[in-house]
Amino acid sequence: MLDADHFRRWMTATAASVDREAERLTALDSPIGDADHGSNLRRGFRAVTAALEKEAPDTPGAVLVLAGRQLISTVGGASGPLYGTLLRRTGKALGDAAEVSEEQFTQALRTGVDAVMQLGGAAPGDKTMIDALVPAVDALDAGLGFGAAATAAEQGAEATTPLQARKGRASYLGERSIGHQDPGATSAALLVAGLAEAGAG
Ligand code: ADP
Ligand code: MG
Ligand code: MG
Repeated sequence: MLDADHFRRWMTATAASVDREAERLTALDSPIGDADHGSNLRRGFRAVTAALEKEAPDTPGAVLVLAGRQLISTVGGASGPLYGTLLRRTGKALGDAAEVSEEQFTQALRTGVDAVMQLGGAAPGDKTMIDALVPAVDALDAGLGFGAAATAAEQGAEATTPLQARKGRASYLGERSIGHQDPGATSAALLVAGLAEAGAG
């Protein structure tokens, strides 16, 4: 079973890797975006860890709802409302249980990813964060565990390179978006990797 501490560790592990990889995320956002993805997310996840320390939410759902709210209010840029919605909707789907099973979490995460697709209108193959998130949830659904989900997300992010962007800023470039890995899919892989790190913790 996964408790509030597990979800707190997920958020702090993600904040640490976003901090470490911020320059790389911004560099990826340079040829096909506006070179702010790393700084956007670093600001957002710093706010998440600060809020978690201050408010100490005590259920998995409350941890994720608080984290999502912080991302929406601090990130700015397309990725803030999208990641915020992902965490907030996943958290809401978990309700107020003190502990949740991996199966319950997987179902909730599916709800969150669906909400992101609804909000942003992106489907798999559009060269967005969805291309990392959907394979991750599919791996969890297949019972493969957090490590396999992280690998699936990483592979999904790498597979965005040959795609032409159909959503977000990169889509303005048309065919010139081909040949670059999507920054949001790359950060989504960090988020899923954080889940695996939290599991080990
Ligand atoms: P902005 O493009 O506003 O500067 P960011 O640079 O922080 O925002 O985030 C860009 C990332 O957001 C993209 O690489 C992509 O993965 C993701 N993204 C943008 N638009 C959408 C969308 N409509 N649906 C899903 N993801 C999106
Ligand atoms: Mg950007
Ligand atoms: Mg921007």
